[in-house]
Amino acid sequence: MKYSIGIDMGGTTTKMGLFSADGQMLRDAEIPTRSALGLDVMFCDMADCVRLLCAEQQISLQDCAVGMGVAGPVEEDGHVEGLVNLNLYDIYPAKELSQRLDDIPVAISNDANVAALGELWQGGGKDCRSLLFVTLGTGVGGGLVVNGQVINGRHGLGGEIGHIKVNPDEPELCNCGGRGCLDQMASATGIVRNAKRFLAKDSGDSLLRGVEKLTAKDVLDAAKQGDAIAEKTVDYCMSFLGKTIADINYIVGPDVVVLGGGLSKAGQYLLDVVYRHYDRYPTLTKQRSRFALAQLGSDAGRYGAAKLALDLSEAERS
Ligand SMILES: [Zn+2]
Repeated sequence: MKYSIGIDMGGTTTKMGLFSADGQMLRDAEIPTRSALGLDVMFCDMADCVRLLCAEQQISLQDCAVGMGVAGPVEEDGHVEGLVNLNLYDIYPAKELSQRLDDIPVAISNDANVAALGELWQGGGKDCRSLLFVTLGTGVGGGLVVNGQVINGRHGLGGEIGHIKVNPDEPELCNCGGRGCLDQMASATGIVRNAKRFLAKDSGDSLLRGVEKLTAKDVLDAAKQGDAIAEKTVDYCMSFLGKTIADINYIVGPDVVVLGGGLSKAGQYLLDVVYRHYDRYPTLTKQRSRFALAQLGSDAGRYGAAKLALDLSEAERS
């Protein structure tokens, strides 16, 4: 295939891009995700947009691979138990789209996994074969690519590192029903929760005292300025991420670990903290994964979905 369309189906907006096979985004589009109006409207919108992008580029649909990323675990056969943010349950999104596009094949994976593939293709992991992608935002998400292949796993939970249990001492419950998930420690929410705990325990001065509606950005900014309690918070929260990445080395040794999501705007500072904790754990060899910041921002999903589609069409031809 010479072209590919990548679709990132978000809770309110669906982003699309038409790519050349060598990874240039030639055209892009954004449409509202009208899930409240039902499956038919939502997938017809998407199909119309795919056709429009092809028409603008003056190519036929048959010359274009199509792939999508969705915000929920995708099982091996394309079944999705639930897209909670769209209030859709028990669906086959790729099949729905394919049916509205003359039955051309549509590739699908979880949004964090396609974002990982996007970063491997054209972002922070370019020229690598295996990559662990960690998104640090309101929650902790993750995607895994090994030897160029997205790891979905049978149940679609492959690479979903946010709910690995890392802290048996965490008193609160995670939204997954477990306790002590990485999501509760290394996310923006986790940073704020732990900063408040440190502030309550420690009577020392801090830039964070008296800040109304404390955010993770406040904590990271203060830590960068050398605020002791903020530094302690970031260090504590990221220690769990560093250890998790070190553990993952024993299952898949990724060439590169890419940090993305809102918190990664803290840049090299955050990368260094996480790397320091990762590097604390001795391993059987001296080899270490490279750490990098994500480069594609919120475009990673459409890049990765396009690459997923190209890979699928390649596999089907051979
Ligand atoms: Zn959890």
